Amino acid sequence: MSTNEVDSVPADDDRHEEGPTFADLGIDDRVLAAIADVGYESPSPIQAATIPPLLSGADVVGLAQTGTGKTAAFAIPILMGLDTAQKKPSALVLAPTRELAIQVAEAFGKYSSHIPGLHVLPIYGGQSYGVQLSGLRRGAHVVVGTPGRVIDHLEKGTLDLTQLRYLVLDEADEMLKMGFQEDVERILRDTPNDKQVALFSATMPGAIRKISKQYLNDPVEITVKSKTQTNTNITQRYVQVSHQRKLDALTRVLEVEDFEAMIIFVRTKQATEELAEKLRSRGFSAAAINGDIAQNQRERTIGQLKSGALDILVATDVAARGLDVERISHVVNYDIPHDTESYVHRIGRTGRAGRSGQALLFVAPRERHLLKSIERATRHPLTEMQLPSVDDVNATRVSKFGDMITENLSSDNVALFRKLIEDYEAEHNTPLVDIAAALAVGGFDGDNFFMEPEPEPAPRRERDRDRDRDRERAPRRYDDEDGGPRRAPSFSRESGQELATYRISVGKRHRVVPGAIVGAIANEGGLRRSDFGHISIRPDYSLVELPADLPNETLEALRRTRISGVLIQLQPDQGPPAQRLNSRGPRRDREARPRTERRKPRS
Ligand code: AMP
Repeated sequence: MSTNEVDSVPADDDRHEEGPTFADLGIDDRVLAAIADVGYESPSPIQAATIPPLLSGADVVGLAQTGTGKTAAFAIPILMGLDTAQKKPSALVLAPTRELAIQVAEAFGKYSSHIPGLHVLPIYGGQSYGVQLSGLRRGAHVVVGTPGRVIDHLEKGTLDLTQLRYLVLDEADEMLKMGFQEDVERILRDTPNDKQVALFSATMPGAIRKISKQYLNDPVEITVKSKTQTNTNITQRYVQVSHQRKLDALTRVLEVEDFEAMIIFVRTKQATEELAEKLRSRGFSAAAINGDIAQNQRERTIGQLKSGALDILVATDVAARGLDVERISHVVNYDIPHDTESYVHRIGRTGRAGRSGQALLFVAPRERHLLKSIERATRHPLTEMQLPSVDDVNATRVSKFGDMITENLSSDNVALFRKLIEDYEAEHNTPLVDIAAALAVGGFDGDNFFMEPEPEPAPRRERDRDRDRDRERAPRRYDDEDGGPRRAPSFSRESGQELATYRISVGKRHRVVPGAIVGAIANEGGLRRSDFGHISIRPDYSLVELPADLPNETLEALRRTRISGVLIQLQPDQGPPAQRLNSRGPRRDREARPRTERRKPRS
């Protein structure tokens, strides 16, 4: 196996070498046009390293996690090699979960938007066979599926892989953890020998090495090697925030943090423009820079940032290379970077000339592993920051209002206006405080001066309809008033839906791992990863947080699901009754209900 370690650039090196462009990688015009449409500026390290060997026909093993851009790394070369006249599937991507399968299929759709007549079909457990059968009958060039469902179709004779030319194992370690090893090996064995195989995995356990040795043909191994360090005068924090709430989170940070100038990093050119526009419409002075902006315009914008005419720059990695502006007190990683080196380079835009700097990273729940790899590679733990609350924002607005008055009192024009106001007071006999308030009305939007408190989450419809039935069926809810301590309900950070605790009959004794629980429940119950809350594995059983209003059919399907051969008998958790009222110590099941207060979503 030849090994290819993608070298990184040391922390503060502003001679940051220009990497290859997508065109340099030999990508054809149709795919280049699609990439331009989605707005990627340059290949991520895993793309730069993987696309050329895949295009040359080699098998590849890529050590890469979600968030590194690995989907495009395998999708682009496959799309370039497909013949749309061939109606049987030419490419199969195996993914551990239905959620990932859909995501990968969507990514193929995006990257093939300029290839007419190309069909991509996701197939996964939980979806009716009808849709999948008609998709297969119509002819799919690329099939993206979970291993179990792919095997089902193979056994039924509804999926013909005799013409397969590309096979991708995505998140291979996850697939094995979820018990798909046999299925994966069977697919590797029962498909044409001359197919090209790409295997992506976040880790390289022995079982994956074995698969790669046995089924791949002298693969090129690609690892992104970290060689990073961060500057100690930069304070690094992170905020947990779902993708949908990032803009709200950013505005709160902008209101409350005391910053001089800020650079906000996003992934695409479009995102720079869109975010800068949204910030301007919220009253912040913000401009975008990206690789498409002409050099003189870029210089003008940076000049404004230097002089203080502009405070917020929204940038891509490429556009911010080598940027050296002392005023930048804050760097916000609005979109988490693909690799640690980009992170180090991004945050190196603050803390210049011996000053101190602040770096803030937005992390969505499924990006936590990227945070971990940043911490590992920089050997620097990031501190979690709680988002400013509505009260924090309002307190800042009041204090800034006061500061404005104090500052304006020293203006040369005060004498002029004082005379006019004295005249008004005498003429209208109006108290001075009313006159001052009237003047403030002219300068501020009183209707929106205070941020509104967050609305309570919508009540569950089911509860309103049939409370009694719910009580019987639904898992113990934290706000029950029948003796248990009052607790705030738990909410999914990603989807905002209410979660409840369910008990399953497999535990440490059965050697289950969280991945196996998520895999089995997601596949059999048709759930997404974002539907899961905390999982706690106990000696004989486990507690899993899932949406509180799972439909009956899903509950039924999950009661019959097996993990490691054991029927899981999923049921709402009633908690240990003897201890519910016990005030002497913490509830034994507390571990299963973590961070409930913090999980409450903000509006
Ligand atoms: P993945 O690791 O494939 O799940 O990709 C993570 C995210 O990065 C997705 O939102 C992609 O759209 C985005 N992405 C992939 N490649 C690039 C690139 N070269 N430049 C910017 N964003 C990218």
